[in-house]
Amino acid sequence: MLYQSTRGDKNKITSAEAIIQGLSTDGGLYVPETFPVFSLNEIKELIDKPYNKRALHVMGKYLTDFTSDELDKYTIAAYNTFNYDDAMIAPIQSVEYNTHFLELWHGPTSAFKDMALQIMPYLLTASINKCDKQKEICILVATSGDTGKAALEGFSDVKGTKIIVFYPKDGVSEVQKLQMISQNGKNVDVVAVEGNFDDTQTGVKAIFSDTVFAKKLNSIGYSLSSANSINWGRLVPQIVYYFSAYCDLINKDSIKPGDKVNFCVPTGNFGNILAGYYAYKMGLPIGKLICASNRNDVLTQFINTGVYDKKRTFFTTISPSMDILVSSNLERLLFEMSDKNGDIISTYMNELAKKGSYTVPFTMQNKIKEIFASGFSYEEDTKKAIKNVFDRHNYLIDTHTAVAYNALQTYRNISNDETPTVIVATASPYKFCESVLEALGQANVSDGIKAIDELHKVTGVTVPKPIERLKNANIRFNKSIKKDEMNTAVLEFLGG
Ligand SMILES: *Cc1c(COP(=O)(O)O)cnc(C)c1O
Repeated sequence: MLYQSTRGDKNKITSAEAIIQGLSTDGGLYVPETFPVFSLNEIKELIDKPYNKRALHVMGKYLTDFTSDELDKYTIAAYNTFNYDDAMIAPIQSVEYNTHFLELWHGPTSAFKDMALQIMPYLLTASINKCDKQKEICILVATSGDTGKAALEGFSDVKGTKIIVFYPKDGVSEVQKLQMISQNGKNVDVVAVEGNFDDTQTGVKAIFSDTVFAKKLNSIGYSLSSANSINWGRLVPQIVYYFSAYCDLINKDSIKPGDKVNFCVPTGNFGNILAGYYAYKMGLPIGKLICASNRNDVLTQFINTGVYDKKRTFFTTISPSMDILVSSNLERLLFEMSDKNGDIISTYMNELAKKGSYTVPFTMQNKIKEIFASGFSYEEDTKKAIKNVFDRHNYLIDTHTAVAYNALQTYRNISNDETPTVIVATASPYKFCESVLEALGQANVSDGIKAIDELHKVTGVTVPKPIERLKNANIRFNKSIKKDEMNTAVLEFLGG
């Protein structure tokens, strides 16, 4: 299996090369040339397997330059009960006969980013060996809160790598911030940027495309790589849990093999839901992929109108990991929807950069709507969803999962589509204690660490161990910079 850029560059590379490079030199994202297709029988063969073996099977189809022994080792090392507090790794909780939550937050940082970032360091270090790269890798991350911590945890003290994480100073929750600034490891750095997530992501992308800066880093022995979801090594592990959820629904007798399932995904950078689309292309019986947005509903607008317009007010919400106006991975979807027309994608992305918007033709919009639906949830409705689900089902969801829950209710009202639906639960409610407490109707909510105990008192829900441990955390990082100082911060960190 080889990989190509979404912007028309004809050069094809292996998965190891794509994982090292992150972004293509033409600015595009790497995508697989073709998609392996599973028959229903092949899907059924996964039913009796544990999560790590499901991962081995699915990822093996894409990472064909890795041996199956290698992948077996990595999937075992990533998906086990040492790292995850649930033996299923990605368990399903059903609240109604056709409404299920796929809990992707049982890993070490309590958000779904662990599903990819627990295995990606193995993939990256193996890729470096395969490609015989001598240089140390510096992982550069822009985070809206969860990626940063998951990447730090994954790469902490991994030989041959350093990692620097930039987060928007006022754009993450207290727990998210504390998780990051208390990170252990000799090879890590964490920096706050004055601006929002888009500023931070734009800064990181600018560093990646700065060839002069790259030469400078090379001269001091480093090359850059990315752990953001633009990296293929982030996406491929995420395809696995769509298959895994389907198998578990069969195991629970909630569906029969071959039945269609919808997935409703709280969406920011479009990585998670794109992995669902890839699962669909691989033959997983998916009816609709419901893209849920918060008040920054640029994706909902796009799916409904065919116009992607980032020239709009940016809102800071209680679901900060979805506060994004430029969803990078949408480019990969458009590439498939345009029958792999790199020139067209290039044009759209140039228009987005220059004018702030682009419009896709009616035919493409319709093609997208065949598989995607969309919905949004503003703050008040998101809070109501948390309270409703807790009151009715004694089940506590976080602010991002609640956006998806509310979007699903709206979608069902409009469409009358009662297909069994999996809501992808992307974070533990304990990462967003203050907002969850307010949603439950609590007044005078404390902030930071205190809110963790309060939420436990009010709900009785177990606090995940990694969050419990924050109570004794040491603060290691308190640097804050302006958005045009990111290059300098990287150089300082690497000692250049
Ligand atoms: C990252 C994140 C999202 C958005 O996922 P994308 O892959 O960027 O669309 C949603 N919820 C939580 C909790 C997240 O951390």
